[in-house]
Amino acid sequence: MLNLVLFGPPGVGKGTQSQYLTRDMGLLHLSTGDLLRSEIAAGSALGLEAKSLMDAGILVPDEVVIGMIKSKLQGNPDASGFIFDGFPRTIAQAEALDNLLQDLGTSIHCMISMTVPRQELIERLLLRGQDSGRTDDQDRGIIEQRLEEYLRKSAAVADYYRSQHKFKEIDGRGSMDSIYLRIQAALNTGSSSAGNGESTPV
Ligand code: ADP
Repeated sequence: MLNLVLFGPPGVGKGTQSQYLTRDMGLLHLSTGDLLRSEIAAGSALGLEAKSLMDAGILVPDEVVIGMIKSKLQGNPDASGFIFDGFPRTIAQAEALDNLLQDLGTSIHCMISMTVPRQELIERLLLRGQDSGRTDDQDRGIIEQRLEEYLRKSAAVADYYRSQHKFKEIDGRGSMDSIYLRIQAALNTGSSSAGNGESTPV
């Protein structure tokens, strides 16, 4: 199995690049944001619980997303690997993921962290909000809250993988194809702790 974590702040381009990786490597794409939005669309109790937090730009509780990932991992025993997008976003989630993968006899191969300057992230998200229908992309205050949440709770997850020598960082600016080439190059280099050794900036 090949398991990758695609990491970075909201708007950095994880979803788009996950689609390229899925197409070329046959990995299963698991986006906790997408899974939560499906729960909301289905009107489930879980979706109802998550909606107000997501609308406010706040992370949903760890147990909720860990439970969703657990059932996806257990429901796809024949997968050749997974791309985790938007997960793990806290240290508790990263530890839970390690345990879940260990139970399946596998582990994370590497984390690819994408970086884009804060101002460009805000512009990208506002643009996405114009046609995505995502209310959390339509309000500058909510976008700033999500970036704040990323800095407060998620940036440390990079250090978790850095200490396991599984961390690689790439520039998320430029065309989708050029970014994808950088990801492929990062995957083709051996295990490293590439990056500047500091927490991923926003
Ligand atoms: P983005 O990366 O643009 O913020 P996502 O679709 O990944 O978009 O996430 C949307 C919202 O869903 C987040 O603001 C958060 O409320 C919730 N969410 C998604 N993934 C997680 C997670 N792993 N842990 C907690 N909350 C999450």
